[in-house]
Amino acid sequence: MSSTLEKMSSAQLMGLEDKHGAHNYHPLPVVLAKGEGVYVWDVEGKRYFDFLSAYSAVNQGHCHPKIVGAMKAQAETLTLTSRAFYNDALGPYEKYVTEYFNFDKVLPMNTGAEAVETAIKLCRKWAYEKKGIAEDQAKIIVCENNFHGRTTTIVSFSNDETARRNFGPFTPGFIRIPYNDLNALAEALKTENVAGFLVEPIQGEAGVYTPSEDYIATARKLCTENGVLFIADEVQTGIARTGSLLAVCGNCSCENHCEQQATYSKPDILILGKALSGGAYPVSAVLADDEIMAVIKPGQHGSTFGGNPVAAKVALAALDVVKDEQLTKNARVLGNLFRKEMNRIIEGTDLVNSVRGKGLLNAILINDTPESETAWNICVALKKNGLLAKPTHGNIIRFAPPLVMTEAQLLECVAIIEKTLMEFKR
Ligand SMILES: *Cc1c(COP(=O)(O)O)cnc(C)c1O
Repeated sequence: MSSTLEKMSSAQLMGLEDKHGAHNYHPLPVVLAKGEGVYVWDVEGKRYFDFLSAYSAVNQGHCHPKIVGAMKAQAETLTLTSRAFYNDALGPYEKYVTEYFNFDKVLPMNTGAEAVETAIKLCRKWAYEKKGIAEDQAKIIVCENNFHGRTTTIVSFSNDETARRNFGPFTPGFIRIPYNDLNALAEALKTENVAGFLVEPIQGEAGVYTPSEDYIATARKLCTENGVLFIADEVQTGIARTGSLLAVCGNCSCENHCEQQATYSKPDILILGKALSGGAYPVSAVLADDEIMAVIKPGQHGSTFGGNPVAAKVALAALDVVKDEQLTKNARVLGNLFRKEMNRIIEGTDLVNSVRGKGLLNAILINDTPESETAWNICVALKKNGLLAKPTHGNIIRFAPPLVMTEAQLLECVAIIEKTLMEFKR
């Protein structure tokens, strides 16, 4: 038997996962052992640009010293109290995060899916206790091709057959409409007993599907007119990724979540996760104002780890980094440059149809059938050339580097992408 002290190769480590781990993922064949800023290194020491950022969790870059420092200090002091007792880190974090995003209250959870579940429960309870919908009748409108996580209730309203098949029976109470279709939303809002509209401001997993300019603002307005809660899932789009602090900020690039700007569509319920910890720790949050959050009373919802002192310190540091390092502005500026460069490359090859996205959440659409292996093969070739990205939904490649990237680094990455695509040129 090989000693665990012996350094294992990538092949050996992949073998271990294959043999002992459930096969619920299909990873690119690279085994990472270290990360710093925009870079990750594999077990053999090869360095890569990370162009996925753990699905936008690592917006602040890998192992950010300020975030890791906060985590280490708190880990050595107090890690978990449960919410049976108060802890001295939660209150200051709750004050900070609510002021940062301009809401009265926060409900801390751990993963994105838990935060979505929390938002659904909150919306339903509000519907029965404030809106006066008869018990068990509340409906929540969702969109086709949504991705909100993996729990039984969340996959209940997914239309991704891979995520759903043989996981039923499903939770009722959802109406699914086409994304980016305001007429469909207006129609659905005429249904009786609608409590909320749950939406991603840009559909990340669906392939960085970016709606028309007025979609979010008009959806917000329609919800208000119909007395329905507008619930924004910004687990992937939030926290500077799209070149504004939140994607619902529209075209405002200020570092503050200000109410003054015309383009801001304040959600009734805001769901955050992923980059809320800079990828250091599972931290998620549901934010709402008092009239909504007040419907949750002691004993009605909770989580053993939600709001633990390490999570509180890590999230506070992670949000500080976003402001200190002006990541919103950087994502906006580099995003514009990236799409400009991609469009230039696309002109020279019919391998890629188009580039789309906002800020540093982008995707290129490969000119091939969804079933083809082309996008996967391009990602394997990108890996060989020192850049890690992952296909989503067949023929789409998502490009989402950490937001701490410099312009020089971005141009280096553009050169890698260009060189790789030219290898595939038809
Ligand atoms: C990733 C994601 C989730 C789920 O988050 P987990 O932490 O994986 O549970 C929910 N909504 C959106 C939009 C996401 O991108």
